[in-house]
Parts: sequence; structure tokens; C-alpha cells
Amino acid sequence: MRDGLEIVQKSMLEADVSYSVVQDFMGHVSEKALGKRVLLSLRPNEELVRIVHDELISILGPVDSSLHLKSEGPTIIMLCGLQGSGKTTTCGKLSQLLKEQDIKPMLVAADLQRPAAIEQLHVIGRQLDIPVYSEADNKDPVKVCQNGVAKAKAEGARVVILDTAGRLAIDDELMAELAKIDKKVGPDQVYLVVDGMTGQDAVNSAGAFNDALELDGVIMTKLDGDARGGALLSVKHVTGVPIKFIGTGEHFDALEPFRPEGMASRILQ
Ligand code: GDP
Repeated sequence: MRDGLEIVQKSMLEADVSYSVVQDFMGHVSEKALGKRVLLSLRPNEELVRIVHDELISILGPVDSSLHLKSEGPTIIMLCGLQGSGKTTTCGKLSQLLKEQDIKPMLVAADLQRPAAIEQLHVIGRQLDIPVYSEADNKDPVKVCQNGVAKAKAEGARVVILDTAGRLAIDDELMAELAKIDKKVGPDQVYLVVDGMTGQDAVNSAGAFNDALELDGVIMTKLDGDARGGALLSVKHVTGVPIKFIGTGEHFDALEPFRPEGMASRILQ
């Protein structure tokens, strides 16, 4: 059984699961394996793989890709994450998903850090034929979000998606800005968008966002590449909130509801 456990541990580390999470996980699995007397079973390694797989699924769950839309008034969804994580693209993907359900969202360009971000959101709005709220000269993202939400209410939009600013790395100013939007605008759902290719860094940033904001879910992008997705396990461990979706490409339809089974197999490859 020890050989089997070592293989699992190696596989998880190669998949980019952080060391402390792997240690924790192996502790649980060993305990379960001993409890089930895996050693006495006819095929101990098969039994072990099943325990590992089930344990991964249980940690990665629960499945919850609902956007929890309210029946009255606009549901406000705030996306946050580091620059380049895929927030703006994900605004388009969520909009596409909503459009497929006959719900027309409004996007709010609250990323005032990156000059091209506002235009990028307008391009998405034109492509998907959905309204985008932006203010050219306003430097206060809280005000922009408040005004955007007021406009969405006035126009009867069912969903408003706030595209907030990111930074290349975590800094206090960014966190203070996001916390202020969270407090003053009161989004119904706050999702952290994490780049699945960044491995260990994803875990550190997720910890910082989780400390500053009350997250409701995680969307991990760029899982169409080689990344084995181990960062998801670490991010889930750090935040404790459901993984809502995974991004699997640059197009608007490249967003999949998160399924723990597929990800468990991928991590254990
Ligand atoms: P933001 O700074 O967080 O708003 O990030 P963007 O939405 O501008 O995305 C940064 C880059 O990542 C862009 O080139 C996107 O096309 C790309 N991107 C976003 N999501 C995915 C994904 O799921 N897969 C791949 N391959 N690329 C993605």
C-alpha cells in the first residue's frame, strides 16, 4: 500500500497541488485505507485508488454551478481576480450562458486600471448584443458600479456583471478597492477568477482574495491547456467555496460547469 500512496502523492504534486494540501490529503487517505483494511483486500492498490478518487471528489465538491439568480430585481455578480486571469473574457462567457437561457445581462466596466479593459468589454457587448455600462471620466470604481446597477434596475436587466480591476500581483490597494465595491454595492455573488496555468501562485492569490472578500465561488480558467488542474484542489482547500465553472478556451462558449469526477481523474493521471 505504501507504494500506492507514494504514487498518488507524486501524481498530485506533479498536477500542481500544493505541498501542504497533498500532505493533508494523504493523511486522510491513509486513515481511511487503514480503517477499510485495504491491506487485507484482494487488490489493495485498486481499493486505494478508489478511496483516493472518492476522497478527491468529496473535497472538490459540492457541485453548484447555479448563479443563484433572484426572482426580483437584478442579481449582481462581481468578478474579481488578478490581471490576465480571464475576468473580462469570463464576463462574455457568463453572458453567453445567460443569453442561452433568454436572460439578457448588463455588463459594468469597473476595471479602471487597465486602459484597454473598458473597450474590451464594449467589444464583447457588441459581439453578444448586450448592453455595457461604462463612464469615460469616472475614476471611482465604486461609483461606476453603483451607477451601473442603478441603470440596470431602471432598464429591468435581470443580471448585472461587474468586471473589476486586477493587478499583476496582490496588493493592498487592489484589495481595499474590491472590498469597498463588495461593501457599498453589495453583490449577490462574488466569484474569484483564477488562471489554472499559474499553479502554486493561484493558491496564494486565492488566499488573499478570500481574506479580503466574501467569495461565493471560483471560476478557474485556461484548463484547456496542459495544466492538470491540481491548483483547483488547493484553491478549494484555501477558499472553501464551490468551484462554479472551468474555462476551456478563449471563445464565449468555452465555459463548462465544474464536475469533480472529471477533475479527479485529471489530477490523478
Ligand atoms: P482579465 O485581465 O482578467 O480581464 O483577463 P482577460 O479576460 O483579458 O484574459 C486574458 C487572456 O486570457 C486573454 O487573451 C483571454 O483570451 C485568455 N483567456 C481567458 N480565459 C481563457 C481560457 O479559459 N482558456 C484560454 N486558453 N485562454 C483564456
